[in-house]
Amino acid sequence: MIQHSMSFSSDLEGWWCVIHTHRIFMPVPHQNIPFGRFEDLALPISEPEQVHKIGEWDGEPVYAINAEELDEPTDEFVGLRTALFEHPQMFEFAARAFQVHLFLKTHQYCGQCGQPMTLVDWELATQCEPCRHRCYPRISPVVIVAIRRGNQILLAKNKRSASGLYSVLAGFVESGETLEQAVHREVYEEVGIKVKNLKYFESQPWPFPHSLMVGFLAEYDSGELTLCDEEIEAADWYTIDTMPNTPPLKTISGQLIEQTKRLMKRA
Ligand SMILES: [Zn+2]
Repeated sequence: MIQHSMSFSSDLEGWWCVIHTHRIFMPVPHQNIPFGRFEDLALPISEPEQVHKIGEWDGEPVYAINAEELDEPTDEFVGLRTALFEHPQMFEFAARAFQVHLFLKTHQYCGQCGQPMTLVDWELATQCEPCRHRCYPRISPVVIVAIRRGNQILLAKNKRSASGLYSVLAGFVESGETLEQAVHREVYEEVGIKVKNLKYFESQPWPFPHSLMVGFLAEYDSGELTLCDEEIEAADWYTIDTMPNTPPLKTISGQLIEQTKRLMKRA
């Protein structure tokens, strides 16, 4: 079990993921999270009672703590999206640290009986002593799928997309569903078509706030595009020459589109 909570000691040495709301501490020149002891961070925050070990990097432990006692994060705290695009080697830890703190913040009391929860020390969990209810960090799987029809790809613009880019389709997995069932349902709900030949691609943690993107490649099977009014603003089939702006390669959607372009060239 790599991720667990432990008592703070001033002797602890390692990498530090210091989280403030949606930001992570990366001192100038913003190349990395800091290494050393807590006192080396030189942050005006009090020593924590607990730290959370969230992994190892370069043979050293990585600890997560939060700095929310600071009223405002300084310029040395960078946003999670900035971490993804500019410091991808650190994004994995930034994502974990953020999700650990979100978990602790939202699981202070038992959801079953309302008593205060206590931290488990050998794995990352909280436990209610009176009723034995135990909680783990929340992870919400999302299927994301690139659909190809010969030398064309289906790209859609989501009504809630902040970027305004065209991308592949995605949606949350519902309770009791397999990942494959979720792909078929989401595609049908969002654009009214059937797909076939699903192939697992890869996955990416997406800490906005606690998703796990599970990527699939699929082929068009049947049906006409019929867009879901609530979710999809526009969707169409594109060849490589006609493609609109799509997400960058560091996102799983960008990688799914890139992989599909390779298949389109061969079609
Ligand atoms: Zn309880």
